Amino acid sequence: MIIAIDGPAGSGKSTIAKQVASMLGFHYLDTGAMYRCIANYALENGIAFDDAAALEAVARDIPVVFSHEPGSPVATGVSFGGVDVTDAIRTPAVDKAVSPVSAVPEVRAALVEQQRRIAAHDDIVMEGRDIGTVVFPHADLKIFLTASPEERARRRALQNAERGFGDTDPAVILEGLIARDKADSTRTTSPLKPAADAHELDTTHMSIDEVCDAIVKMAREARP
Ligand code: C5P
Repeated sequence: MIIAIDGPAGSGKSTIAKQVASMLGFHYLDTGAMYRCIANYALENGIAFDDAAALEAVARDIPVVFSHEPGSPVATGVSFGGVDVTDAIRTPAVDKAVSPVSAVPEVRAALVEQQRRIAAHDDIVMEGRDIGTVVFPHADLKIFLTASPEERARRRALQNAERGFGDTDPAVILEGLIARDKADSTRTTSPLKPAADAHELDTTHMSIDEVCDAIVKMAREARP
């Protein structure tokens, strides 16, 4: 069974997708982390964000490798080219670089191929921007998460404070989120938008547990 969870930056996708995957015993894939790996590599190696040929080569030749805690199907670490980039891909510099890099169609094609391969044999919760529209248009359940921009910035500020890096000023974060949402939803290839058959959940006033319970209930009803 494939559960697609899409939505804008800071809508709670990662937290919720991970918890839903744990509740159902499913695998979990954070596709944003894959785009972040390419953006981080481009930054570190001086590759221009519009150099489609060079970026495509990176996305095709270097696999993104997720790591799991023993016994858990939910990945918590990520490495790229043999380097652990779990924290490196969450910096403000990568936050800025990731939208232009992910707008390159050749990068998307390479990563979508990997995403489909990863999901070929397992029950999975996959989160991103285009999972229900492009990667798995026939997913068994599609969720589109939203929350007000202010609430999303507040959540991201708390998350960064807990992690101990990244911006913690909600006003600065809000500006970045709005810019990223605009870039992601207006790009030509696979823009961020709800699939016609997605269940839209506004989580502004919902707790994490409420959102997860609602999704798990829908998943049990939709199970093929
Ligand atoms: O989910 P996260 O905020 O980590 O995603 C980072 C960026 O990766 C998004 O802002 C978007 O530009 C890109 N992305 C995408 N398609 C996906 C997942 C993420 O374009 N399926």
